[in-house]
Amino acid sequence: MNTNEQTYLCYHRRHLLGIEGLTPEEITILLNRSETHVQQNRQANKKKSVLNGRTIINLFFEDSTRTRTSFELAGKRLGGDVINMSVSTSSVKKGETLIDTAMTLNAMHPDVLVVRHPQSGAVSLLSEKVNCAVINGGDGAHEHPTQALLDALTIRRRLGHLSGLVIAICGDVLHSRVARSNIHLLNTMGARVRLIAPVTLIPSGIEHLGVEVFHNMDEGLKDVDIVMMLRLQRERMQGNFFPSIREYFNFFGLDEAKLANAKDNALIMHPGPMNRGVEIDSDLADDFGRSVIREQVEMGVAVRMACLEILTENLDQSEGSNL
Ligand code: ASP
Repeated sequence: MNTNEQTYLCYHRRHLLGIEGLTPEEITILLNRSETHVQQNRQANKKKSVLNGRTIINLFFEDSTRTRTSFELAGKRLGGDVINMSVSTSSVKKGETLIDTAMTLNAMHPDVLVVRHPQSGAVSLLSEKVNCAVINGGDGAHEHPTQALLDALTIRRRLGHLSGLVIAICGDVLHSRVARSNIHLLNTMGARVRLIAPVTLIPSGIEHLGVEVFHNMDEGLKDVDIVMMLRLQRERMQGNFFPSIREYFNFFGLDEAKLANAKDNALIMHPGPMNRGVEIDSDLADDFGRSVIREQVEMGVAVRMACLEILTENLDQSEGSNL
């Protein structure tokens, strides 16, 4: 069985809407395929032709630097045509609904829509209305599946495995889709997840997802393998969740003293964009012995190439079966 057949057998979904519900095999297939693109992306000639003739539309209703750019690069490196729809200059500004926008784009026969939207569940709803494959580029505080995959790829490349690792996700868990997707992925792959945050930034009942909750960094970081920091998502906050930034950094910002509780070789991660001096000390963020933040960005392109490639292979199969 070649790699393509294996992929089709193991990840046969039409869309990638979230990590919740994926099997360890599906996650492994996505990670293994991503791995094949890492070397290619480091060569002078990064171009392939597997997406020749395919159209990918990036439809982003929220700001993005890394996700949108890396999907664009991923599509182009695989030979596809990529269109970036800027919502600020589209008919959404004239009052068009999400579904009408999606139906309009659908009528142009794209093969993949990559969608980011501020409402949880919006991307899944949209996927029911279109004929193409849909990738969730982040929906509200719900899921950001490609971020969790790129985080997992980064960890796996550094430490060789995910199973058995202890990973602390720290900061604004309440508003974080990155945290949710990572919790699902890491639990599914046999890692242990701790959440560390002020009481106000932990969703109630989150223990049901199989995580341990801490409200003290020194305790929560004890002997962890990975420290994953989250940004304070102030754009999603209504009201006050902490007294002041200074106070927040004192108690929950990652600095040398708090990091000393983790394993000696513990890795520091952050999905970006980073707020230096708010959730992470600037020097630590740049300590490339321990911080893998730049590697995460690099892995993001490989992961998005893998997702585009696998979903269009699945389209090929379903188009073939309709003939
Ligand atoms: N870039 C990530 C996201 O879109 C994390 C963040 O914005 O803080 O969710």
